[in-house]
Amino acid sequence: MAAMERCELGKTGILVPELGFGAATMGGSYGPTTQSVADATVRAALDAEIDFFDTSPWYGNSEEVLGKALAGVPRDSYTLQTKLGRYPDGTFDFSPKRVVASVDDSLQKLKTDYLDICLCHDIEFVPIQSVIDETLPKLRELQAAGKIRFVGVSGLPLAIFRRALAETDLDVILSYCHVSLNDTSLSELTPLLREREVGVIGASPLSMGLLTENGPPDWHPAPPALKDAARRAAEHCKLRGASLPALALAYARSLGLTDTLLVGLSSPEQVAENVSATLDRIAPSLLE
Ligand code: NAD
Repeated sequence: MAAMERCELGKTGILVPELGFGAATMGGSYGPTTQSVADATVRAALDAEIDFFDTSPWYGNSEEVLGKALAGVPRDSYTLQTKLGRYPDGTFDFSPKRVVASVDDSLQKLKTDYLDICLCHDIEFVPIQSVIDETLPKLRELQAAGKIRFVGVSGLPLAIFRRALAETDLDVILSYCHVSLNDTSLSELTPLLREREVGVIGASPLSMGLLTENGPPDWHPAPPALKDAARRAAEHCKLRGASLPALALAYARSLGLTDTLLVGLSSPEQVAENVSATLDRIAPSLLE
């Protein structure tokens, strides 16, 4: 298997693989799973040099499952990212007190004594000024204490990144659903992100399962017309002997907007398909 290409994540010094492992799948957001499937999927990913893992307290028991799947793997051989501020009971809490408790809880579940990256999760749901004035400074304290190596924010509206970067520095940002076949709007932010040397993580290149043959989960927010278009695109690819997720991944990668793309992975087969997709040449007629 060809080696995964790597790229420095902003100016962190971390060389991330072009495909990262989105572990929201391990918390059941995309259907039930088991520890043994998660173990096998992580093993397949590591074998394919996918050694960047993303999780969050928001993703059900994803942190525990990922922590178990990574047990025994040398800690310095992979990059671990989790988040804080958004929790499974539907609450948001970005207070400095919760920052400390949340990081400690994540460290315990992930069976490690440091996080490579910790992100404030979906900051558009709270007053961003409080994230700038209270949450990020507390994270910087934990960084100075050695519990976290790098900090950043994630969310959907691109305006949140402009707003945060106007007042503070960020090591990385995570933007989702804006680097995909149906939405390339992250490009609007690229000049600012590159100028500030921010690490750029593009998540959900399959638009949260929309660009797959099975289609999106029930909770997916796309309007019916977009779901219908995606379903027809999947059928069209199948008729042409191609795969919509493979095309979508190859396309997202070809845009060159991100340092790494986080894709949700549910099985060793998906790891294999997505790794070969990154090596695919895009057939222009299929893309059209
Ligand atoms: P995605 O676009 O990566 O789609 C994931 C879905 O597609 C899963 O059901 C997965 O099993 C399936 N899939 C993957 N490869 C496939 C293939 N080859 N064929 C068929 N199906 C395939 O969406 P995502 O999982 O939501 O996003 C990726 C990761 O990014 C998440 O797991 C999470 O770690 C991160 N993320 C973070 C935020 C945030 O911070 N706000 C938001 C979204 C995603």
